[in-house]
Amino acid sequence: MAERTTFHSLEIFLNNQPTIKYVPPSAPEFHSFRNVWNSSHAGVPLAIVQPQSASDVAALIKFAKNRSLHFTLRSGGHNLQGRSVVDNALLIDLRALNTVTIAPDRQSATVGGGILQGDLATKLWEAGLATPTGAVPSVGYAGWATYGGYGPFSSHWGLGVDQVIGATIVNADGEIETAEEELLQGIRGAGGLYGAIVDLTIKVYPLTGILAGPIIFDSSDIAKTFVDFNIAYNALLATEGLPAQATVQRVVFNTPRGRVFAITFVWSGSAAESEEGKRWSAKIAALVPCQMNAVVPTTIPKWFASNGAHIPTSVYGSSRTYNLASISNATAEAIGRNLALLPSDPAAMFTVHQLRGPSVDGTLTKPLSVFATREPHYMLEILGYATSGVDQGASEAWAAQMAAEIELAGQGDILPTAYVSLYGPGPTESPDKVLEKVYGSKAEVVRLLKARVDPENTFRLAVPTLD
Ligand SMILES: Cc1cc2nc3c(=O)[nH]c(=O)nc-3n(C[C@H](O)[C@H](O)[C@H](O)COP(=O)(O)OP(=O)(O)OC[C@H]3O[C@@H](n4cnc5c(N)ncnc54)[C@H](O)[C@@H]3O)c2cc1C
Repeated sequence: MAERTTFHSLEIFLNNQPTIKYVPPSAPEFHSFRNVWNSSHAGVPLAIVQPQSASDVAALIKFAKNRSLHFTLRSGGHNLQGRSVVDNALLIDLRALNTVTIAPDRQSATVGGGILQGDLATKLWEAGLATPTGAVPSVGYAGWATYGGYGPFSSHWGLGVDQVIGATIVNADGEIETAEEELLQGIRGAGGLYGAIVDLTIKVYPLTGILAGPIIFDSSDIAKTFVDFNIAYNALLATEGLPAQATVQRVVFNTPRGRVFAITFVWSGSAAESEEGKRWSAKIAALVPCQMNAVVPTTIPKWFASNGAHIPTSVYGSSRTYNLASISNATAEAIGRNLALLPSDPAAMFTVHQLRGPSVDGTLTKPLSVFATREPHYMLEILGYATSGVDQGASEAWAAQMAAEIELAGQGDILPTAYVSLYGPGPTESPDKVLEKVYGSKAEVVRLLKARVDPENTFRLAVPTLD
């Protein structure tokens, strides 16, 4: 009965807001609109609305607040736990907020809060520009950048969070607000906890060419290959280092011919530097026996399209993550042992991001943020996912076993903080504990700002959870 009344008042409200697209549960597109990457907990929302402007978002938040109606905000739908769709909550889909306006000096751009990172990168590329993103085009840019934003350009230009120089939000009173410094600090790391981000102003950089592609290694004994690569890579870093333009991301995934250990290599240098990029890709390929070096000159749109084609769009399961100061032989052996046991499902994966460069090496004056892990580190993604609910248990058990062995072997290397976007809290872990885990010494800043700008917790279903 209460739900019927809420529905009725929502429909009356929307009748007076013709610019907001309304997708009721009876609409044929309702199910495709509610799809998110992790389907394990995907609830059935009360209804879906798609605002077309910041004013539409403001009207929706005001309506929801006045009615005490719970709502979620979604952009790309790639929260690892499927948090952007919740049973009976109104789903506010921000994907129509997808504009890109490049500043006349070409050093920054203002981008819509719902833009997907592939669309953003394509629009920038057409203008001879780039900005750090991840590698999967369908991930929402604001969700990626404002919670941290690791990716193939972070060694060159820094994390996503360090690109944010301005933001406009719809706050807890349903007002459109330009973020002042304190609010910006919170947005840089705690994303949508304080409001709906309707646009971000971010740094952009000139770029007209990249080298990118996979380097696939002999994976017949994947445990040994992983360990040998780790030894050789550590030696390379210790002797020669690695240029800022090069990103070496280790990834293990399933192909029709079995599991494979590969590097996704990206070189974000100028055209004049591309020979150097090729030399570096050859050097990485020579670290252990290589089957194929497919690093080629390409464009960011083509590179995104190729990555997107390899990622399952709907999965079941959960992730584990650790930040490690270094990867010792003992840790590499623990990882290798478990890689040999990776379930054969295409959604079960493992990857290692290495964070080095301006966000962690002191070469850049970083804007204030609540992103906590500010030393060079490796961020491990242990992706215990499956493409069907039936196989979810096996993938999650594999991820749990890998995590347990890393905890034992990695003592001394495991940093106390973890990446909020990948961290899957245990069933008995309180929100306070999770906040300490992901924000470390910045947890109190996150709490105090929340108490000031959203004391009633209007954005209670945002990431991260506070109560
Ligand atoms: C396949 C895949 C690849 C990934 N690759 C990387 C990677 O390379 N590097 C990395 O760092 N992370 C990566 N991630 C993690 C990803 O960056 C985060 O999960 C991110 O938050 C997803 O954003 P989204 O908009 O797609 O998700 P959604 O599920 O739409 O949103 C997640 C949450 O973010 C908040 N939110 C999103 N947009 C807004 C907004 N405009 N205003 C206010 N709140 C908002 C909301 O709280 C929402 O619940 C990846 C995830 C997946 C599934």
